[in-house]
Amino acid sequence: MLIVMKRGHTEAELEEVIREIEKVGYRPHVSRGVETTLVGAIGRGPTPELMEHFRALPGVAEVIPISKPWKLASLEVQPFPTVLEFPTGKTGGGHVMVAAGPCGVESLEQTLKAARYVKAHGGHMLRGGAFKPRTSPYAFQGLGVEGLKILAEAKRETGLPIVTEVLSPDQVELVAQYADVLQIGARNAQNFPLLQAVGEAGKPVLLKRGMSMTLEEFLMSAEYILSRGNMRVILVERGIRTFEKATRFTLDVAAVPVLKSWTHLPVWIDPSHPAGKRDWVIPLALAGLAAGADGLIVETHPEPEKALSDAAQQLHEEEFAELMEKVRRLAAALGKHLAAPVLG
Ligand code: PEP
Ligand code: MN
Repeated sequence: MLIVMKRGHTEAELEEVIREIEKVGYRPHVSRGVETTLVGAIGRGPTPELMEHFRALPGVAEVIPISKPWKLASLEVQPFPTVLEFPTGKTGGGHVMVAAGPCGVESLEQTLKAARYVKAHGGHMLRGGAFKPRTSPYAFQGLGVEGLKILAEAKRETGLPIVTEVLSPDQVELVAQYADVLQIGARNAQNFPLLQAVGEAGKPVLLKRGMSMTLEEFLMSAEYILSRGNMRVILVERGIRTFEKATRFTLDVAAVPVLKSWTHLPVWIDPSHPAGKRDWVIPLALAGLAAGADGLIVETHPEPEKALSDAAQQLHEEEFAELMEKVRRLAAALGKHLAAPVLG
């Protein structure tokens, strides 16, 4: 339920409401607006009697049920966008960021090269999988811990924050030592123990949409993370399965406005995995941004032809530079803020 405080309520009244919420075994989430304070009380469906109890507390204006099954993710509980800040840029609330890098970390040389030009062309974050979730057990599985160390070296040199994937709950602690953002891949988007574990890791999470997931299910997955006390979640639309075979997945551009009408969380587009082919990456990225996305995560490789995974869809450096130029122009046309390239 959502508890709307009266205008001009006192701090003591707010504290009393929070205490009562905790007393009945619910979790409070306070959201202070200019006009009023909202307190989400998150727990199993409240009874009319319980709502009446809260309505009677001093300083409370109204108690309303939260209509959506996702609670902490909903715009009802937090009616303003979540903005995540990194040393290189922000995402959400009109701020757009670009994370880019290879599909997988393959060597120090490959990763450093990518990191340097991602930074030079204005990217804000370095991506790269150290642990790769591959459809085949015989395909390249990533360099593991060595890959994490390579990412750390690239971060040390360029200052770009790192986003990298974590595959299982028992890896979370290790990956969180290196990553600035923990990535949950499409294949793990409903791995509930993993979602709970990253909810407790104290790092922002980039959550990919599962390839056969509805948007409601997607937000319920996000809710698993939020309900563990981690409100720093980025949702990523990365294409879904449809009957169409021309592209690798079908980018659901509509997911962007729909999600943004339901949630305060930043919504990003991954144009690489739905395209499956580098020629189509830039148009999909621009479509996502035009639809209102707060960021992009894009694959680029210094020598895509030699990549050990996703070779066909990774951009060459020149194509990444072209993408960034177009992103800058589109962001300006849309009135969005895109942090300037990181210098140094
Ligand atoms: C990736 O980002 O390289 C990846 C494996 O993506 P997804 O989980 O969306 O397939
Ligand atoms: Mn990939």
